[in-house]
Amino acid sequence: MKRILLLGGVTEALTIARTLGPEHIYSLAGVGRVPTDLTCQVRVGGYGGAEGLAQFIRDEGVDLLLDATHPYAAQISQNAAIAAGQAGIPCWALRRPAWQPQHGDDWREVGDWDELIEALQPFRRPLFTLGREPLQHLHEIPPEQFWTLRALDVYPGNERCEVIGARGPFLIGNERELFEQRQIDVLISKNSGSTATEPKLQVARERGVPVIVLRRPVLAEVDRELGSVSELLAALSA
Ligand code: NAP
Repeated sequence: MKRILLLGGVTEALTIARTLGPEHIYSLAGVGRVPTDLTCQVRVGGYGGAEGLAQFIRDEGVDLLLDATHPYAAQISQNAAIAAGQAGIPCWALRRPAWQPQHGDDWREVGDWDELIEALQPFRRPLFTLGREPLQHLHEIPPEQFWTLRALDVYPGNERCEVIGARGPFLIGNERELFEQRQIDVLISKNSGSTATEPKLQVARERGVPVIVLRRPVLAEVDRELGSVSELLAALSA
């Protein structure tokens, strides 16, 4: 494989990027940290949709597009599949397996924000671990609820919401403390499938706290799906 364009933004993508030589490109949206210690090239920022990505692939002579973005980053994954098709190169994707509920779990799946708010009604002290989306709804918090919102960075909350800025991996002991101190009675989460953020699910199980799970988006079909970094690296070197 002569030249890879790796679409990243999650831990596994960075692990793959660390194995790539200087002819390859690691691409980031620019919302998180940008690594400065990689051998491969790093490109930051969007392409202006699938057309722009296809143009970049042609201009740079990319031979393989690797989609290692977050399972909820549906737009870029769709753009990747379309752009690779337009440019006539294969698109492979790293698709993390989803978490599965275990014995003792009380999971309630929702498809969007409206369904989430309805499922939240019986609860008083939710912990949101969905990223920044709830920030747009702080003025809608009912008087009987107090929200704890965990995001990558700290943002201003209000009298009914505190925002905590924290980046994984999260340790089980700290998660237990968080649930205990704030008397969390419901957890709201994506089904990211990442081991770095999984301990909150164990704590919810231990405490009998229900979990409202935002359903995974359906992602575009690609030429090849790999379930883990090791599988992907083996496929690349084959
Ligand atoms: P998204 O809705 O699928 O993508 C929005 C736009 O951001 C894309 O159309 C593209 O812009 C640009 N973009 C996204 N990933 C890119 C990449 N790797 N390289 C260059 N441009 C990229 O994505 P999102 O949910 O906002 O997530 C943004 C990034 O954060 C993703 O790379 C994702 O892997 C990472 N991330 C997301 C989550 C999550 O929960 N969604 C969690 C952790 C990390 P153009 O159309 O202009 O090309």
